[in-house]
Amino acid sequence: MASKRYAFVNEHPAEMCAELFEEAKEHPWPAALNDVELPCLCPSGRHLAWFVADTEDPDALLGTIPPKFRGGTKVHDYAVAVIGSSIPTA
Ligand SMILES: [Zn+2]
Repeated sequence: MASKRYAFVNEHPAEMCAELFEEAKEHPWPAALNDVELPCLCPSGRHLAWFVADTEDPDALLGTIPPKFRGGTKVHDYAVAVIGSSIPTA
């Protein structure tokens, strides 16, 4: 099976925000995700965080992330368009 790129998108209530980041102390993230960015919109009040990873088995990768974070995470197919390349500019 070929590796594909997926977005792992977590949405959580505001009350869980700090708890999700604290969770890593007890349930560390897998080293396979070292240096993968985990952006979030939490400072804006929309509690959404995500990472993008290449994998042959997204469900298996999902199974390796901390359980509370995993609980609110859905896997999505992922594609990127580049403005000025695949999207024309003026
Ligand atoms: Zn949050």
